Amino acid sequence: MASECFVTQEATQEILLRVTNVCAECYDDINEGDIIHYDMQNYRYLCKNCQERLCAQMNENCEVVEDDSPGLFC
Ligand SMILES: [Zn+2]
Repeated sequence: MASECFVTQEATQEILLRVTNVCAECYDDINEGDIIHYDMQNYRYLCKNCQERLCAQMNENCEVVEDDSPGLFC
């Protein structure tokens, strides 16, 4: 699943040391080599699970919407 709202990258030691070593949403540990997603709206890193969950709630402007309309663009 790809979304233009996020930048998918591999966690590097530099990110872990300089930015964060936990997911900004669920606070799960991020380890070097993990696939992580940079949330360009909120300037934070998310794990795969949180990215998928948020992505499903986002509209085409990358805004989280509260209703249950299916987010097909992800
Ligand atoms: Zn998470």
